Amino acid sequence: MMKQELTFEKRGEILKRSGLRHTKQRDHIMEALTETGTPLCAQTIYDMLKENGMVMDLSTVYRTLDTLESSGVVRKIVLENDDSAHYEFAGNGHRHYLICLLCKKIKSIEYCPLVSYEMSLSKETDFVIEGHSLNIYGYCPECSDKRRE
Ligand SMILES: [Zn+2]
Ligand SMILES: [Zn+2]
Repeated sequence: MMKQELTFEKRGEILKRSGLRHTKQRDHIMEALTETGTPLCAQTIYDMLKENGMVMDLSTVYRTLDTLESSGVVRKIVLENDDSAHYEFAGNGHRHYLICLLCKKIKSIEYCPLVSYEMSLSKETDFVIEGHSLNIYGYCPECSDKRRE
């Protein structure tokens, strides 16, 4: 998975580059997202912070995520048929996701399988291709075990 353990200084640098001050709240949320390397929903982030003894109300978590998202530090992922948005550290490039239909867990795939396909498609159709989106749905290992029982 995409674990990017950023130091406290590095997180500060990223925030500064995005025009944000390095506040404690922003730092804790960035730390949670980069340490897990997995898209998380606000509730999960809140629970993680609480477990680590960091007191922040859920509304602050949401507000901080909003700020980080509008500055491009964090990417918001909204899926069809799921009303809780997930967030991940934006880093570089776009992502594709593996989504569990049962527990709604999201795993990001760093590798993009469509780069050469886009090029040949562009040649074939004369379309100027600007991007694509691709999500893959299924059952995570835990849920497929449960389904087999
Ligand atoms: Zn699952
Ligand atoms: Zn791609």
